Amino acid sequence: MADQGFLKDKVGFATIAIHAGQEPEKWKSAAVVPPIVTSTTFKQPAPAEHTGFEYGRSGNPSRNTLEECLAALEGGKYGITFSSGLGATTTLVALLSKGDHIVCSDDIYGGTNRLLRNVVARQGIETTFTDFTNIKNIENAIQENTKMVWIETPTNPLLKVADIAAITAAVKNYGNILIVVDNTFLTSYLQRPLDFGADIVMYSLTKYMNGHSDVIMGAAIVNEPEIEQKLRFLQNAMGVVPAPFDCYLVNRSLKTLALRMARHRTSAFTIAKWLEQHPKVVEVLHPGLPSHPQYEIAKKQTSGHSGVFSFKHSGGLEESRKFLSSLKVFILAESLGGYESLAELPSLMTHASVPAQQRLELGITDSLIRLSVGLEDTTDLIEDLDQAFKAAF
Ligand SMILES: *Cc1c(COP(=O)(O)O)cnc(C)c1O
Repeated sequence: MADQGFLKDKVGFATIAIHAGQEPEKWKSAAVVPPIVTSTTFKQPAPAEHTGFEYGRSGNPSRNTLEECLAALEGGKYGITFSSGLGATTTLVALLSKGDHIVCSDDIYGGTNRLLRNVVARQGIETTFTDFTNIKNIENAIQENTKMVWIETPTNPLLKVADIAAITAAVKNYGNILIVVDNTFLTSYLQRPLDFGADIVMYSLTKYMNGHSDVIMGAAIVNEPEIEQKLRFLQNAMGVVPAPFDCYLVNRSLKTLALRMARHRTSAFTIAKWLEQHPKVVEVLHPGLPSHPQYEIAKKQTSGHSGVFSFKHSGGLEESRKFLSSLKVFILAESLGGYESLAELPSLMTHASVPAQQRLELGITDSLIRLSVGLEDTTDLIEDLDQAFKAAF
């Protein structure tokens, strides 16, 4: 995509993914593949003396290995993993106190929306949701007690792109406000928010980072030691830790992240272009297409787009149902970012927890279909979409 004006792929990314934090010398056995350490407790040479590990919740060698690799891939100093993406979000919000305020993108992951509205609000932390494609909206939403700005870019499921550098520059004028970017949709291969001034990069590792649809896990990557220490404390104090076996799986999956993301990027782009000329398609929401309203911003801060995008067709709920149940290669399921292609209807599935009125305002209609383009042959995927259109219309 670099030749189309996007950022160049980061040189050395694949090497970092394979070697950072993986030094065989750190294990007595000199194992090339980092072992899975399941022990929940570690022998101490003398009371209250330890060799780096005491108890599995506060630290685990398999987890540390993954965290080091994640930080290196992001160009960050520290990586902290959590039991899920929402576990990461819960912990990040726990950096705040009762009476604090959050400004958040209005079109975000359904679970983040539900957490902020139905749980965090009850604990006395209010959130204002607004459209982040206009920075004026963010500035207008900032209050004296605003302590966090939560950016998701591109958004889910409408693929709106927020200008991370411009938002960061504007927000920094209002004092000490933490900027968090949920980077789940793009991964550090396609977008590195710390380079644009974000304080914290948040992940659902469940999606592209693990990429095999067999682990639920989350992470936060930071540069500031002060934030790292607070998050380390919370990771242990709140107990939102991942299992060593899962850490092993995600660490292994990172070895192919560069290959997978490059393939997701080209295959989804090819399919998006094919859909754009399909007579039953009204609009394709894909930030790699020149028709995308924030195409210029996407070029400035990403090296292309991943495999997840949405499109609107000319039918209604009935056509959506027929289309989705006619697919043979794409699997009708929630989630995204795996090697297998998925398709879903956000209005009834992933975004059903968003209040109907808000869904309507955002444009999450019954004719909006979200795809997660996997790693199958692109021609098979296009053929599958083609036959599903024929069956539905
Ligand atoms: C899935 C997802 C989450 C939540 O992560 P879990 O691992 O499911 O808890 C958060 N943000 C985005 C963008 C996601 O896609």
